[in-house]
Amino acid sequence: MKNTVKSITSIIFGILSIAFLGCSSDDSTDNSSGDNGDGNSVDATKLDLNQFKQEGVGVMMQAFYWNVEPIGGWYDEVNSKIADWSATGVNKIWLPAPGKGQSGKESMGYDPSDYFDVGELDQHETIETRFGSRVELESLIQKAHDNKIEVIADIVISHNSGGGKEANPLRPGDTEVYTLFNEQNGNASGKFNRDYNHYHPNDFHNNDGFEENPFFAKTDLCHDQTYVQDWLWGRDDSVAEFYKNTLKFDGWRFDYVKSFDPKWVKAWNDKVGGFSVGENFDGNAQNLKKWVDASGSPAFDFACFYKLDETLDRNKDLTALGVDNNMLRKIYPDKAVTFTANHDTEKDTNTDNNISFGNKMIAYAYILTHDGYPTLFYNDYENDQFKDKLKNLVLIHNTIAIGDVQIIKATKNEYIMKRNGQGNNPGLIFYINISNQAKQSTVTSNWAGKKLIDYADNSKKAPIAEANGQVSIEAPAKGFSIWSIAKE
Ligand code: ZN
Ligand code: ZN
Repeated sequence: MKNTVKSITSIIFGILSIAFLGCSSDDSTDNSSGDNGDGNSVDATKLDLNQFKQEGVGVMMQAFYWNVEPIGGWYDEVNSKIADWSATGVNKIWLPAPGKGQSGKESMGYDPSDYFDVGELDQHETIETRFGSRVELESLIQKAHDNKIEVIADIVISHNSGGGKEANPLRPGDTEVYTLFNEQNGNASGKFNRDYNHYHPNDFHNNDGFEENPFFAKTDLCHDQTYVQDWLWGRDDSVAEFYKNTLKFDGWRFDYVKSFDPKWVKAWNDKVGGFSVGENFDGNAQNLKKWVDASGSPAFDFACFYKLDETLDRNKDLTALGVDNNMLRKIYPDKAVTFTANHDTEKDTNTDNNISFGNKMIAYAYILTHDGYPTLFYNDYENDQFKDKLKNLVLIHNTIAIGDVQIIKATKNEYIMKRNGQGNNPGLIFYINISNQAKQSTVTSNWAGKKLIDYADNSKKAPIAEANGQVSIEAPAKGFSIWSIAKE
């Protein structure tokens, strides 16, 4: 409830601020010479932000992309990055689903066959998974823990793939039903052997009322079956307990949660605990809220992702970032896992529903200055054009992106948001400008009499706030700035 009240307060402040505080002017004169026209000096130095670092504050790295390579060597590849990611401020990594999939060495983990074979049994024509061996996985998890990084497993429990053919009396006349999973049929571990009774339709019901994955319609797992619940999370040697206690995973990213009742995510988490986030592929924040309420788990903020794509790429109009509350992070900031890209949105086949390269850093600056728990996408961070900028944005996120969110301005070309700080932490003011020329805006800061500096290094100005906190800040053309107080 506290968060909801906070959000409403922020919205009210935002509206008042938009009405009374924002005033801006085009800044067509070039300021790169250093004088900002207000007589303010440009020689300002940043505070050492590390003094504001807080225990437990960080970002998640999605540590894979679609069809990662080298095949069989992915865990080792990630292992080699851990020290750098930890130094950057990553505190969780999200790994692909670890179990053996039907497509063997090609599998990205979303066609699960044997949950207990994480790269050590010879089936589907391979011992290793696409990502490597069990030994390499456990070594990666150990390396992450040594660097204070938690490891999140992708959990695919909506459907299965890769079993043997069996006659299914509930699908009369259908001779192509592959619901038999045992030691000889795609489940060499012999744990959680399955047959047609564990899929829809079965003796309990025809379906569970939730979506089924069209690619795996005949192997849509039935979580209402006690046997399935027991093997997934209930028993001491269940999938969940094996991943947590033996492999040492710290948390869960639930795949395709639209396909089963959110109460099963709750049951899994109640049994084994740990961080949890659901992939509810839905741009409607109210639908995300309903799922969060029912599961108790945070969710990826697809609504925020789509809003960023809409405002930055499609409409080229930032107004909706202010007045449109269709984002999970505006409803439940503590339950929103924000992102700008993932393995699906960045597939080569997806040319529309993604945030364009040119707007990617603005989108990252947005999620890394606002509330919510932000995710970095592997390909973005490990891109030399982005890496140093993202390191700096993560430092800002982990230090001064703190306090209530207050929207100061949201117009077609400009968006200004203030984090109010906390105690001696000064907070920040984030300024996006998508027009073709630099913009200035006078805002009311909490920094009376202080000299400011752009921690994003995109503006050379160093304005001084007046006694009432008012100060003129700048954002470059098609870019952003992140203001806070400079060193005295
Ligand atoms: Zn069912
Ligand atoms: Zn786009």
